[in-house]
Amino acid sequence: MRQKIVAGNWKLNTTVQEGVELAKAVDTIVAEQGAEDVVVVLGVPFTHLTKVAETVNTERIGVASQNCAAEAKGAYTGEVSVSMIKSTGAKYVILGHSERREYYGETSETLNKKLALALEAGLTPIYCCGEALDIREAGTHNDFVVNQLEETVFQLSADDFKKIVIAYEPIWAIGTGVTASSDQAQDMHANIRAAIASKFGEEVAEGTSILYGGSCNPKNANELFANKDVDGGLIGGASLKAEDFIGIINAY
Ligand code: 13P
Repeated sequence: MRQKIVAGNWKLNTTVQEGVELAKAVDTIVAEQGAEDVVVVLGVPFTHLTKVAETVNTERIGVASQNCAAEAKGAYTGEVSVSMIKSTGAKYVILGHSERREYYGETSETLNKKLALALEAGLTPIYCCGEALDIREAGTHNDFVVNQLEETVFQLSADDFKKIVIAYEPIWAIGTGVTASSDQAQDMHANIRAAIASKFGEEVAEGTSILYGGSCNPKNANELFANKDVDGGLIGGASLKAEDFIGIINAY
């Protein structure tokens, strides 16, 4: 059975101190109330990684960075490498978030370098894909998302592909309060799983966790997660409050 995963993405929020407090609260509430069959991940700013990994029970909660450098080491001022991330105790790296594609010019070419480095370092990539509103309105969203996968994660070997997690995040649903409907989410997740099956085979497709992201909250998570191809969520705003986040973790 593929893993159910609920991952928080704190984005550019919290100081280190606030982040540690939030991580503590999440750690406590997950230990007390968290559904045991759900893998919990916290995607935190680089500055917080070490402290958060020291704060939570990392057997229960995985820590993720929200990005990594496209180079392994060297003269790249301001960058943070996969080995640096790994050395903090983090186990995951979020890659290809639409905010990074849009605001920082991240391309499939850069993402391929990051994916290769992350996998080599033993970090699990949470690879994000998803279409903008105009593409959804034009009705070409299924092809658009499959093309994003073809240019990046479908270039990996089947063995490497098996190690990654996919997150479908329609851009029009991120931070907008507009969630994809349950049917829209299921349709896209089924489309992604079918594309994985035709590339890597049925077994790999069945084993791949595909998360939904975009205005997911404790109220709508249950309906979204009830879909057979939705294996959890990548949560922005609602991951910044432990009570909301646990509501999503326990939405199954
Ligand atoms: P929101 O949950 O705030 O819409 O953000 C989703 C997201 O981008 C997670 O990566």
